[in-house]
Amino acid sequence: MDKSIKVDTLVIGSGGAGLTSAIWAKKSGAKVLVVSESYPTRSQTSMAQGGINAVLSSSDGDSIEKHIEDTLKASHDLADEKMVTKMCENAPKAIEWLDSIGVVFSRDDEGNIAQRKLGGTKYNRACYSQDYTGLKILQTLYDNCLKEEVDFLYEHYLVELIIYEGVVGGAVFLDIRSGELKEVFAKSVVLATGGYAGIYHSYTTNMYSSTGDAIALCIKQGVKVSNLDFIQFHPTGLKNSSVLISESARGAGGKLLNQDGEKFVDELLPRDKVSLAIWEQIERGNQVFLDIRDLGEKFIDENLPQERKLAMFYENIDPIDELIPIKPVAHYSMGGIEVDENLMSDVKGLFAVGECSDARVHGANRLGGNSLLEIVAFGMIVGENSALYAKDKSLVECSTIESVKSYIDEIFEFDCHDNFYKKRDELGEILYFKVGIKREKENLLGVMKFLEELPKLGIIDKSKTYNNTLVDFLKFKNSLVLSKEIVNQALGRLS
Ligand SMILES: Cc1cc2nc3c(=O)[nH]c(=O)nc-3n(C[C@H](O)[C@H](O)[C@H](O)COP(=O)(O)OP(=O)(O)OC[C@H]3O[C@@H](n4cnc5c(N)ncnc54)[C@H](O)[C@@H]3O)c2cc1C
Repeated sequence: MDKSIKVDTLVIGSGGAGLTSAIWAKKSGAKVLVVSESYPTRSQTSMAQGGINAVLSSSDGDSIEKHIEDTLKASHDLADEKMVTKMCENAPKAIEWLDSIGVVFSRDDEGNIAQRKLGGTKYNRACYSQDYTGLKILQTLYDNCLKEEVDFLYEHYLVELIIYEGVVGGAVFLDIRSGELKEVFAKSVVLATGGYAGIYHSYTTNMYSSTGDAIALCIKQGVKVSNLDFIQFHPTGLKNSSVLISESARGAGGKLLNQDGEKFVDELLPRDKVSLAIWEQIERGNQVFLDIRDLGEKFIDENLPQERKLAMFYENIDPIDELIPIKPVAHYSMGGIEVDENLMSDVKGLFAVGECSDARVHGANRLGGNSLLEIVAFGMIVGENSALYAKDKSLVECSTIESVKSYIDEIFEFDCHDNFYKKRDELGEILYFKVGIKREKENLLGVMKFLEELPKLGIIDKSKTYNNTLVDFLKFKNSLVLSKEIVNQALGRLS
């Protein structure tokens, strides 16, 4: 393929948000290209377990109004009611669409889509596929992209956005396989690159590649971002590995106990409250466990098979008859690229959707099951909006590839002997303990000092093809940009 490519709509990221947007942009008549650093089926969406929220029936007293109310309450009333209403009202349509394209949802005895309870609500509202919900959704979306003949470029890493006089023009990518830079010019761009909880390295449920790259680029390139300090800590990460045990285990009746076998919190409160209660137990020197023994082997194997496997594989315990040791870990980033009601940023033609965006639907604390909902419900909308936007626009072909090349050359030329991976681990630990569940000014200033005193770092591996160290390093640099902004915003929140 040519080094510069021209399309109507460029979608960056191939998780649930990117693939949904791509299908809907293509259906709306745009020539669409999805570019991603990984293969779609390896995106973080594949890890989602518990479910996707939608009110499909009022038989148990649930309603769209209650979904809105629960979302706003969990958010500490910091979400935008108009955007929350838009998401919750579109939820039944999103599920209907997923069902129609082939997502294999679990069913009840009458053949209806089964729903279960997650935290922060009294209602069985989360639709699920056993505890492989994200994986099933993602695989079906990818199948449908191929059916719709959406074009893909895999293993291409976003290095810079092309923005000229407040209008988006495309993006520059590093082809990881060849080491070459490529420019994609587009009339509209959808950023769908996921969140940044991965920067809490070793203390996160996320893939380590979730470093919020597009958000960091937006900060560097002057695109508006917001609420970056709103990071959600999930109550039940496995104690040793931080791997997630889904909230659906507590929704089904799993209990939280301390080492004396005492229950110390209502398990189905919103995540921030449960995480705080666990953190306070740990501060007192207690160990905390999730107990799902009462659910029984048959129920666990039918509804939570992955949770059992994860506990056995990563913690070496079988939750059928043993307690699961847990700790709260960084799980989800509520903040991101600020978007308006059409999901467009303050740069014309630059849209953002999913975990990389701040569409103001989660406020300070996301309700379980609302992220998969956001990526699909808003993915459908942004797909249509980005295609519509592109219709009467011309390409802004403003090349920036030479400046990106100099930036990469400079990294290669720097004679580095330090190991940045060690600093990446240190950053994860310092963020967890100092920009975690409880925040104090002194700790935040300590993190800023750590960031400011880092020596100049580079890479030892100078190979051109498949240089994953270079990609990890670019991600580490983005983590530093984000960390500074998170600390600044957290400090602003305290004063
Ligand atoms: C373990 C776990 C369980 C979860 N369970 C649930 C649940 O049950 N219900 C729920 O609602 N939510 C859940 N979530 C949250 C939810 O899964 C995510 O918020 C959501 O899937 C994010 O989707 P996304 O498309 O925005 O991003 P992602 O799925 O993270 O996709 C991002 C894409 O961008 C690409 N990308 C990133 N950076 C670059 C770059 N620089 N260049 C090129 N491409 C790039 C990636 O390769 C990837 O393809 C869970 C999260 C985790 C970690």
